[in-house]
Amino acid sequence: MYGLWQMPMKHSGTDVAFCQQARVVLNCQHCDAQVSVSQIYFEQNRFAQRRDAVRCPLCDLPCEPCHIPNRAYETHGDKHSQLFRMLPFQVTRDAAFAHLQQWLRARWFVPHGFLQQRTWLHRCQSMYMPYWLYGCDTKTRYSGERGDDFYIDVTRTNSDGKSVTQPERRTSWRSVSGFVPTRCQDVLVPAAHVISTARLHQLEPWDLRLQVDDQADCLSVDVCVDFQVDMAAGYARAKERMQAEIEHAIRLDIGGDAQRIHHKETQYLDVIEQPLQLPVWVLAYQYQGKLFQVLINGQTGKVQGAHPYCWLKIASCVVASLAALGVMLSWLG
Ligand SMILES: [Zn+2]
Repeated sequence: MYGLWQMPMKHSGTDVAFCQQARVVLNCQHCDAQVSVSQIYFEQNRFAQRRDAVRCPLCDLPCEPCHIPNRAYETHGDKHSQLFRMLPFQVTRDAAFAHLQQWLRARWFVPHGFLQQRTWLHRCQSMYMPYWLYGCDTKTRYSGERGDDFYIDVTRTNSDGKSVTQPERRTSWRSVSGFVPTRCQDVLVPAAHVISTARLHQLEPWDLRLQVDDQADCLSVDVCVDFQVDMAAGYARAKERMQAEIEHAIRLDIGGDAQRIHHKETQYLDVIEQPLQLPVWVLAYQYQGKLFQVLINGQTGKVQGAHPYCWLKIASCVVASLAALGVMLSWLG
């Protein structure tokens, strides 16, 4: 049968509960999204003129359902034997819509015509976004320099030809080395390429204490995104995120007013890694041939997104500002 199928995700002999639910699998040729959508989404987003195509929830373009299996699971099936844990949605569809409208109202330079076409706002979809969650202890040896500030009096000749003495800051540096242990917890790495990592990081923070393994949400959610980043690649990215925390610990350990880190070597111990699904509301829309996406944290309601700009509004604002500046200068003059 065309379209609806059961996702063939076997996990060391254990099927993930939500995968047993018949969902429509899309592999969008426009944005490379690999997602499964609910049957309700499928029926509501088919095109009237082209019934074999459904609107891609991540790029808003038509794509045909397909039957490809999930690459990450096939390649690394043994490592995914545990059930998904997930954060439940705490922002309802109505609340997400309200957050979206509030976000739009605060944006002055959105084109008027774009605001008039508000029907697309209702295409906001609930989505589970895959992540890898890491935690570990680290031990880092480092070498660098500690800088301590001091002040000296410096005499200079000013524009009036007079000598003026003022204190000026200098920094004395001395070599240091040391060892810092760090506990890195709740390091999140997005496990799909369909939305930029930077934008997903801007949805943080998440309260990860609220994890559940009840798959009910996954059964009813509009869109589930497949894992596209395997565990090894996720771990490499997690270590990059941990380095910021480690560097902060090193700077605290060095102390002083300024620090230079020349070398550091980190051991990662007792690494815990876990696949996790985070709740996101997503709205993707095409406007004048360009894709815009808005994301809403399904736990906190935080909005992150892009919108088109009306250059006429921006130009009017610049002209008005210059005119106001001109009036002020004429008063002062
Ligand atoms: Zn797409």
